[in-house]
Amino acid sequence: MSHITGNLERIREQIAEAASKSGRDADEISLVAVTKYARLDFVRELIELNIVDLGEARPQQLQERAPRFPHNIRWHLIGHLQRNKARRILPLTSLIHSVDTTNLLATIDRIAGDYFEEYQEPFCPCVLLQVNVSGEGAKQGFTPDELLQLWPELSCAEFVQICGLMTMAPRVDDVEETRPIFAGLRELRDQLAAKYDAELPELSMGMSRDFEVAIEEGATIIRIGSRLFSEPA
Ligand SMILES: *Cc1c(COP(=O)(O)O)cnc(C)c1O
Repeated sequence: MSHITGNLERIREQIAEAASKSGRDADEISLVAVTKYARLDFVRELIELNIVDLGEARPQQLQERAPRFPHNIRWHLIGHLQRNKARRILPLTSLIHSVDTTNLLATIDRIAGDYFEEYQEPFCPCVLLQVNVSGEGAKQGFTPDELLQLWPELSCAEFVQICGLMTMAPRVDDVEETRPIFAGLRELRDQLAAKYDAELPELSMGMSRDFEVAIEEGATIIRIGSRLFSEPA
């Protein structure tokens, strides 16, 4: 047994605390273990601890790792996906968190349509739209205003289901500064619901340093890497 068991226990306690603090049920929050920097033996250990949701940021690494692990693992792509890699990645992932352009969404939809034609079975991949809530220049994703404008077009996808929104908060000294970002994603979801009747149940937000604030602001999926895998100081 390594430090990972203890890390996982501690994180679960903190999830429960943050949930109860905000009057939520901890069962509403799923944990994606971000394995992008984790050694394979640590990943295996997590799987033995019954973690089934694993997240990778680079499509290449997801593609290399997925076949080496049991079929019941649900792989999440949380990093940027180039359109020319979408066809290979789609059958390996259960959720792409990082759809950040109209073109990428259209590409995924077209690929899902091709599967349908080929196998005559509905294939309706679930995706999240990445939002740059803070409007910082370098971050990928739709701005809230863009999303409010583009929604009618985005929601016409024939096969892809948009199940929610994802964001990353900037790295700040005081974690409280991330609260407006997470609240902003939730408010955008509510605006889309009010304006267009959009159903977007999932909010993927919160990482090692800020997941408790994200839970208080409504996260349904948190993405944790370093806090799971790092040795206790
Ligand atoms: C790396 C990564 C995470 C996890 O970050 P930690 O700080 O290690 O928990 C979450 N989300 C995305 C998009 C990432 O790239």
